[in-house]
Order: sequence, then C-alpha cells, then structure tokens
Amino acid sequence: MQKKIAVIGGGIVGATASYYLARAGHSVSVFDSGNGQATAAAAGIICPWLSRRRNKKWYRLVSEGAAFYDQLLADLASDGFSTDAYARCGALILGQSADYIQEVHDRALERRELAPLIGSVAILKGHELEKAFPPLANTEQALRVAGGARVDGHELTKTLLQAVTHFGGTIHKETVSLAKDNDGTLSVMRLEGPQNFDAIILAAGAWLPQLLQPLGYTVDVRGQKGQLVVLQTDDRGSQNYPVIMPQGEIDLLPFGHGKTIVGASHENDKEYDLQPDASVTDPMLEQARTWLPHLKEAAIADIRIGTRAYTSDFSPFFGSVPGLQNCFAASGLGSSGLTSGPLIGYMLAELAQGRESSLPTEDYPVAAYVKSIGH
Ligand SMILES: Cc1cc2nc3c(=O)[nH]c(=O)nc-3n(C[C@H](O)[C@H](O)[C@H](O)COP(=O)(O)OP(=O)(O)OC[C@H]3O[C@@H](n4cnc5c(N)ncnc54)[C@H](O)[C@@H]3O)c2cc1C
Repeated sequence: MQKKIAVIGGGIVGATASYYLARAGHSVSVFDSGNGQATAAAAGIICPWLSRRRNKKWYRLVSEGAAFYDQLLADLASDGFSTDAYARCGALILGQSADYIQEVHDRALERRELAPLIGSVAILKGHELEKAFPPLANTEQALRVAGGARVDGHELTKTLLQAVTHFGGTIHKETVSLAKDNDGTLSVMRLEGPQNFDAIILAAGAWLPQLLQPLGYTVDVRGQKGQLVVLQTDDRGSQNYPVIMPQGEIDLLPFGHGKTIVGASHENDKEYDLQPDASVTDPMLEQARTWLPHLKEAAIADIRIGTRAYTSDFSPFFGSVPGLQNCFAASGLGSSGLTSGPLIGYMLAELAQGRESSLPTEDYPVAAYVKSIGH
C-alpha cells in the first residue's frame, strides 16, 4: 500500500531514506533547510576498518555501512543515475613510526577476514610509494588499503534527491517543526499550516533536539563544527590518487581535476558556528603541505563548514521514537556518518514500511538518547 511519508532532513540519512521510499512507490515529501548540513560539507573517507575504537556495535554499523555503498551505487546506476560522487580509490595510511604502520597493517589483515572489502593491504616504500602517490614527500613508508574510498557528500545527496524527484517525490527547501494533537497524531508544521503523514522520518542530524524538545523530549545530541579547505592545483593526475590518512586529525583527499581537500577540524566549543576561521584552517594547511609540498602553490577554492551530531557516548542511534506513532529518527553519526549514513537511511526506510531493519535497533536504541520528560 502506498504511504504518504515525510522526511525531515536531506543529508545523507534523509536523502537515502527518501530515495528508497520513493523508489518503492511511496509518496515522499522531503523537508530540508540545508543550514549547516554535515553531509554537504563533508568530502568523506570511507575506510572504517582500521579504527582502534573498541565499540563492537559501532564497528558493525560502519563496516556494514561501507559495504552497503555497493548496493546503493548499483541501485542508482540501475535507475540511470550517476555514481561519480563515489570512488574506491584506495587509502594510504601514514604514521610517525614503522611500528605504527606495522600495527595498522596487522589489524587490517585480521579484520579483512570478516570485511573482505578491505582488499589488498601492503606496506609501500621507495619507488612503490612514489608510484602510488607521486607528490607525496617526507614519508618513508605508508600502508596501502585497496578498499578505501572517497565520497563527495554534496554530490551524492544531490543525486539521491534527483532520484527522489524522478520517482515522484517532492523536495521542499524549508525549515519545519512538529506538533502533536491531543489524540497523539503528529503533524509537520509548515508555513502554510500543518500537514499529516502516515509516517515521519526525522533525519535532522545535529538539529534533532530542536525538533523534539517542543514535544517534551530531552535529546542527548550536540553539534560539533567541522571545517575543511578545498584547494585547487594544476596536478591533473589527482583523479587516480588514493586518499591520505596521516596519524592525527587531518586527512587529505585528492579529487579529480587537481582538487585536493584538506580537513577536517573537530571543534567542540564552536558547536553550530558556521563562520570560517583561519586560526583553525591555516595550521591544517601548513601540516598538509609537509606531506604534499605542491599544495604551497594551490589556491584556496572554498572553505566548507558543517555541523556533526554527537551523543554523549559518541554512539549513533536509529529506530522508532518512543511515544510517537509511526515516527522514526536517527542521529549522532559523528565523524563517520558518511560511512554509516546510507545504511542507516536505508534501514529507516525499511522500518517506515513496517519491515525489520538488517541491524537490530536495540543495539542502537533511540530511547537511550531521546527521553520524554516525565517518563
Ligand atoms: C567537515 C566534515 C567532514 C566529514 N568527514 C567525514 C568522513 O571523512 N567520513 C565519514 O564517514 N563522515 C564524515 N563526516 C561526518 C558526516 O558528514 C556526517 O556524520 C553525516 O553527513 C551526517 O548526516 P545526517 O544526514 O545525519 O545529517 P546532516 O547531513 O547534517 O543533515 C541533516 C539535515 O537536516 C536539516 N534539518 C534539520 N532540522 C530541520 C528542520 N527542522 N527542518 C528542515 N530541515 C532540517 C539540516 O539543515 C540538514 O540539512 C564529516 C563531517 C564534516 C562536517
């Protein structure tokens, strides 16, 4: 049966959920203010397998999330849409010592048994390293992980939302709120008045508290500012380079046509701030130029700023919102949301259609972070 479904938020979670719902024949309305969107700012690395984090549920989500890209891209391609936003270009891991590289190498081999997508893993030195990434300097060795990928969040959501429109859905660039009737019916409040739906998906990222607090909920989600710098070089070979993941905060992402992205910052104290701040981006650039000296000549083409969503224990959540009929939410994807986001969006679409999600919602419980006051 065709359902009328609202999706609030058009980042990676909302765009993927909307795509699968519209594709399945439902009538989908996406509401997205776009303000501060994390997905649009992110030029992301999809390479979750090497993390030292010990949270097994988180690891399962990001590992299966990375693998889910194959299904998403195949579905988009079969519907006639571009998959250029994603490239499995491989990743080069840089470390301060040979011991560190060896440790990551061993972890990659161990994890590959359950995550074959990791692909070939090799420590590169000398000529081999130079061949893998000609402009790389000040690095004696690096670990190459063939399954690493890069995705342009802005391009991917643009494509997904085009597909939503193709399947009859509508996209509304507006900020909406929620209201609950005395009988518990939830409606989406638009400028033109309230609108009712069979199901509502809250994919509002760091802004989930603003949606649910007026309904009497506390929401354990905070915003974190992330900045990255887009540089333009003359290096036309950059299309085929792997992404570079040095030890520490910043990563370097070569895209096509000489574009290289350096980032990102993780500014907890700046929360929802969207102003560029050179005191943060200049040191990132300086650090990037020690590995890629050719970036000294590069022009700054853009500074991208977005707001990541974090819970207090850094765990993402998704599923039904307690106390609200046919209302589903996800948030707290943190700095790995481009990796887990498409799978979470797909699972929200499954739940909204009355089906089970492939990962158990009790492992990522909404109720642990979204609490009705007085319960
Ligand atoms: C600089 C940066 C770099 C990153 N790099 C990586 C990376 O390398 N790898 C990786 O895996 N992840 C990365 N991430 C994390 C990833 O981008 C996020 O976790 C993910 O995109 C979050 O997706 P989302 O759909 O949950 O939220 P968002 O993308 O933030 O989307 C939420 C949307 O909801 C809208 N919204 C909210 N409230 C309302 C309302 N009331 N009405 C209408 N619209 C509303 C917002 O405007 C926004 O557009 C990065 C993030 C940043 C900021």
